[in-house]
Amino acid sequence: MNSKDYITLEEEFGAHNYHPLDVVIDRAQGVWVHDCEGNKYLDFLAAYSAVNQGHCHPRIVAAMTEQAQKVALTSRAFRNTQLPLLEKELCELLGYDMMLPMNSGAEAVETALKAARKWGYTVKNVPEDQAEIIVCADNFHGRTIAIVGMSTEAQYRDGFGPFTPGFKVIPYGDVAALKAAITPNTVAFLVEPIQGESGVRIPPEGYLKEAADICKSSNVLLMADEIQSGLGRSGKLLAHHWDVIRADVVIIGKALSGGMYPVSAVLSDRDVLGVFKPGDHGSTFGGNPLACAVAREALRVIVDEKLCERSHEMGNYLKEKLQDFKSPHIQEVRGRGLFIGVELKESAGGARRFCEQLKEKGVLCKETHTHVIRLAPPLVIERPEIDFAIDQLEAVLS
Ligand SMILES: *Cc1c(COP(=O)(O)O)cnc(C)c1O
Repeated sequence: MNSKDYITLEEEFGAHNYHPLDVVIDRAQGVWVHDCEGNKYLDFLAAYSAVNQGHCHPRIVAAMTEQAQKVALTSRAFRNTQLPLLEKELCELLGYDMMLPMNSGAEAVETALKAARKWGYTVKNVPEDQAEIIVCADNFHGRTIAIVGMSTEAQYRDGFGPFTPGFKVIPYGDVAALKAAITPNTVAFLVEPIQGESGVRIPPEGYLKEAADICKSSNVLLMADEIQSGLGRSGKLLAHHWDVIRADVVIIGKALSGGMYPVSAVLSDRDVLGVFKPGDHGSTFGGNPLACAVAREALRVIVDEKLCERSHEMGNYLKEKLQDFKSPHIQEVRGRGLFIGVELKESAGGARRFCEQLKEKGVLCKETHTHVIRLAPPLVIERPEIDFAIDQLEAVLS
């Protein structure tokens, strides 16, 4: 079968909830992916930052295959030998008392929302069913009904109501709006330290620090959705560390498994995650030994290969080169680490056609929000590979 055959099958039998570039990936290693015809491409999306460690990292593959031969799934009805070690290692790495393992990012966000509400009722003494959670416009936190209900993106919501009450939306980067939105019933402020899906948007200088202070003085939990921005992507282990603050609740996923398996987690201190009692919450696959073995190795790779430092260094290099482009199409280049958005002018006619051209030149990236090209390669990328991508980007954008 060739690429065209696979595309035909998918168009016929698959629900059309995505609009992928027509590249059919058959295998991948590190920063490179190969299609069925043997063409090779540099991956500049990294599965939305799930493969920060590079595709099929040999150490993660080894940990996965070793664990797969021992035991893959126990359910939480019984205990296993991997979960306790992941719990300890992850809490020590990120500096929290406790963690709760789930699978997808959306599930971890839902878990954090549930934890915040329960904390509100049992610790903050908010009256029953009155808890409020504040979120930001242009957020992306996943695709469940509760989560799309707090989205401001029309397409994420259209046709999926009615939605879950208890959410308030304020503009991103607006401290005064946060202050004004807080009531005695507010339990949490959920925020992306960098908004990835809405176009790699970085909030104004000092915003997160001020938001953290407001949350603290109002007894509101600051919950950082670090599913895309975390685990090295921004040049730090967590993107909110750029602001020298500590979120009360951290949500991670994506690169937690290096892309090998769906693994997500919520981290917090005992006063918050301690609110869950047996039976309050759960997941059949959450915390399974295969997931935990994969996540443990994926975290060790981030530390051992100094991926945060590399993201910072390579990101600065790439950003500077992009800012030097003489292009009639570029409005702005922004980002932190290897998390870069190239915003195009309206006159460029959308980012999609540039992504199509880049694919023909051997670089895979994806438009986000019509006018932004997101550049987010695996963090193991080397300088010659960045230089190759820069040449292709310059060719299509100039
Ligand atoms: C990808 C993402 C999610 C959702 O993760 P899934 O694994 O797709 O459910 C949530 N929040 C942010 C910031 C994300 O980038």
